[in-house]
Amino acid sequence: MSYSVGSQPSAPGPQVILHGGAGATLKSKGAVQPLRESLHRIVNKIYDHLLQGMPALEAVVMGCQMLEDDPQFNAGTGAVLQSDGQVRLSAALMDGRTQTFSGVINAQRVQYPIKLAQFLQTQNDRVIADVGTVELARELHIPLYNPITPKRLHEWVNECKDGALMNLVSEMGTIGVVVRDTQGHLAAGTSTGGKGGERIGRVSDSAMPAGTYANDCAAISCTGIGEDIINECLAARIVVRVTDGMTLAEAFERSLAECAQRGRDLGAIGLDAHGNIAWGNTTEIILAAYCSNNVIGDTLPTA
Ligand code: ASP
Repeated sequence: MSYSVGSQPSAPGPQVILHGGAGATLKSKGAVQPLRESLHRIVNKIYDHLLQGMPALEAVVMGCQMLEDDPQFNAGTGAVLQSDGQVRLSAALMDGRTQTFSGVINAQRVQYPIKLAQFLQTQNDRVIADVGTVELARELHIPLYNPITPKRLHEWVNECKDGALMNLVSEMGTIGVVVRDTQGHLAAGTSTGGKGGERIGRVSDSAMPAGTYANDCAAISCTGIGEDIINECLAARIVVRVTDGMTLAEAFERSLAECAQRGRDLGAIGLDAHGNIAWGNTTEIILAAYCSNNVIGDTLPTA
């Protein structure tokens, strides 16, 4: 299996990189432009707020909410349906400054799972699953919300007819945001509807340190087949490598090479404390956009 990695050198000021999933090449060329527009708009907005002094954690939450709102992505509104036709959302947030992880697993009827993860940052119990997320949303007076879009319902019904429900897996669109603020603090967040078509109760990597991890050296968000990401413990692995002295680019190169050698299907984005940006994937493409030194770039295929 092959892999690719890319990087951007450090620059003054804040940095942001975000992703909208990784997978096989987009089916239609026309799909690229709306994705690019959306990713650029959101990366630009996060960057502007960072320039104005928004702290990293807040900027990650804001970016994740914008991506959760966009039905093109498999997070929040427009997330894929599971085997029983329900949407279950998982999201995690990690503050690099305090090295604190929080997350929700398989939350139902919420608009912004990342907001629940944000609330949990300061709680004693910081990772909440299933029925606990409903109870938490009720406690916080968050109104019930149905994230199912007609397009996703239609896809699910068609897959059921074909008897190919477990093959929904190639869907891209999990989202992630990684940020370094003007103080040099790092944070990462990831939000997903899962693989699509999965067994009830399946747990995604996104709300585990395998899929989202940060400390004061590096911050990472992953996407791809969750089971592969968990097997590699990829986000934490890259962060630990940087903490122990590798550059971010070296850590991506080494980790992605290992993943490819073991046939893993995944991608990751990251930032380090110096403001270096990196991304990598063993999948055909990763949908990522970044902004550094006022310049926006992306990894999307050119039309
Ligand atoms: N990693 C997510 C999961 O397995 C899916 C994805 O990133 O596309 O739940």
